[in-house]
Amino acid sequence: MKKLVKELFIPGIIVVSMVAMTFMATFSDDIKTTVDVMAPAVYKSDVTLIIDPGHGGADGGAVSDSGAKESEINLAVALKIRDLAGFFGVDTIMTRQSEEIPYPESTGTIREKKVYDQNSRVDLVNSTENAILISVHQNNYPDASPSGGQIFYTENDCSIVLAGNIQEVFSSSISPDSTRAPSVIGDDIYLFQKIDCPAVLVECGFMSNPGDFALLSTDSYRSKLALAVVSGYLQSEDDINSYYGGTNESKDSILLY
Ligand SMILES: [Zn+2]
Repeated sequence: MKKLVKELFIPGIIVVSMVAMTFMATFSDDIKTTVDVMAPAVYKSDVTLIIDPGHGGADGGAVSDSGAKESEINLAVALKIRDLAGFFGVDTIMTRQSEEIPYPESTGTIREKKVYDQNSRVDLVNSTENAILISVHQNNYPDASPSGGQIFYTENDCSIVLAGNIQEVFSSSISPDSTRAPSVIGDDIYLFQKIDCPAVLVECGFMSNPGDFALLSTDSYRSKLALAVVSGYLQSEDDINSYYGGTNESKDSILLY
């Protein structure tokens, strides 16, 4: 516990980290101590954070040598992001909450199922007012050497700020040896082509890298990833609120006391 706190003890996320540690201590069986910190008042805005665990259902995404599916890791991390973000008063929606996706009977082939699923996610995002999308994925590469997390963004000022803040927390506490920088997302990802709101894609690490994969397989590391994403999100809330014409007058309520 002390080690985790120390690793995450950096300017800008101290409040988020310590309160989140209390949260994690409450829900984790293997953490016996708690951090004696009072929870802050929540910071409420009209923005809805849409959390998108990549793949799922008939689409497992990348598969490790041992047969682990990317979709399952994505979902586990995304559910933790949902819980932590909710703890801080952020309204959230998930694009899926299970590995099972209820496809209509009209979808026969895997391709048809994928198209149906992607269009459902597009519809959900585009029908949500004041939405921000964070999509969670795991990277994969033929060569086992690449490692570390990287954040991708759509070409939008708000997305760039959010990606930068999440990447900064990753650089501090997730992948300190990595020199990866945020990058604009490619035009080959259907969901990101079709949505209008600010959006980032978080590649948490490489399933093809043995070190990354060992970490990605643990519950504690998934919690740490979720904490990094939520920390970056909370640091971006001024910009996100401004993007949607909101004010930031309640910002001072996120203070440790
Ligand atoms: Zn993926």
